[in-house]
Amino acid sequence: MAQLDTREKLAILADAAKYDASCASSGTAKRSSAGETSGIGSTEGMGICHAYAPDGRCISLLKILLTNSCIFDCHYCINRKSSNVRRARFTAEEVVNLTLAFYRRNYIEGLFLSSGIIRSSNYTMEQIVEVARSLREDHGFRGYIHLKTIPDADPELIHQAGLHADRISINVELPTEQGLKRLAPEKSVEGIAGAMGDIKAAIEDKTDAKRRFKSAPRFAPAGQSTQMIVGADSANDGEIVTRASGLYDRFKLRRVYYSAFSPIPDASAILPLQRPPLMREHRLYQSDWLMRFYGFAPKEVVAATGADGMLPLDIDPKMAWALKFRENFPVDVNRASKEMLLRVPGLGIKAVNAILLSRRWRTLRLDDIARLTVSVARLRPFITAADWTPGGLIDRVDLKARIAPPAKQMELFAA
Ligand code: SF4
Repeated sequence: MAQLDTREKLAILADAAKYDASCASSGTAKRSSAGETSGIGSTEGMGICHAYAPDGRCISLLKILLTNSCIFDCHYCINRKSSNVRRARFTAEEVVNLTLAFYRRNYIEGLFLSSGIIRSSNYTMEQIVEVARSLREDHGFRGYIHLKTIPDADPELIHQAGLHADRISINVELPTEQGLKRLAPEKSVEGIAGAMGDIKAAIEDKTDAKRRFKSAPRFAPAGQSTQMIVGADSANDGEIVTRASGLYDRFKLRRVYYSAFSPIPDASAILPLQRPPLMREHRLYQSDWLMRFYGFAPKEVVAATGADGMLPLDIDPKMAWALKFRENFPVDVNRASKEMLLRVPGLGIKAVNAILLSRRWRTLRLDDIARLTVSVARLRPFITAADWTPGGLIDRVDLKARIAPPAKQMELFAA
């Protein structure tokens, strides 16, 4: 490997980390600062991303790989062994120094560290743990640390990672076992599940101990998360939603991130040539919210998919469910339970809470609801209010055409 200075390594290893979907800023549109007139605020460079701390604060993280060299050959990965990319590697000490330097300049509030696998899973995991240990113990670093762990590393090393990190994550990579076998043959479903199970048990043990003894050590207080690549294999949205909900239940994950597969240079012939629509990733995130915050059961979200098992791209999953199961509507905004109000397309959690609060004092009219939503036209067929009933609107065959916006590919993180 050619000798590279820190800036060159940072450029390579921050760019290589952008494929880890663990924060919102990696999805922004690219704007260069170079050009005829100089500019600032370019979104082209990689390296700093944003995440949410357990208390809801948005924090900036230095997001890098320890190395983009890897002894594995996962077909979908730009850093795989057979890839022709420029390689770089930081030592643990270099990552520690960079983190501290960025932190002291007030650029970041934490570190997101992942890595390709070098020499062996254990060796790589030792380096990752050493970064976190040194930051915490040698330098008293109190910032946020998110470590991606190597699933088949020694469980004791993963345990050490959890003692120093706020969050740890292991990527399940693909929604199905067949997909993983085909596209990442060196990884095993059992190994990934075993490591996630160990982390869940350790989080529960330490949380319990902390309740009883103030001095008990913390273990990944921000929990564990994972990432699934969407569109690299044939799994449909129904299968992805079912897999994600199984992971939430089984391992008590904080988040399942979705990353739309993007074709990479010199791609393997078994990969699709095109990336899936970015809107597909967005619809999966929306379905994730329905299950986590709106009381939808996974099978209800799956029921909103079409005959091909895919969520519609032109309408959101909540609207798709409402249009398919119209017998549940209209919902009376003055009497319905919170659970039913949350099922009305166009009513978010804030709007539902506002309805519940204000109807204690007065009877709500359509205008009152209109003030709580972006488009009352979209939700009118699904509600009744003191001065409004949709009549036969809910049963019209052209209802979708009347309320659905024209199909448009959106940027996932567009402002
Ligand atoms: S182990 Fe990770 S870094 Fe290595 S090829 Fe597979 S996905 Fe890429």
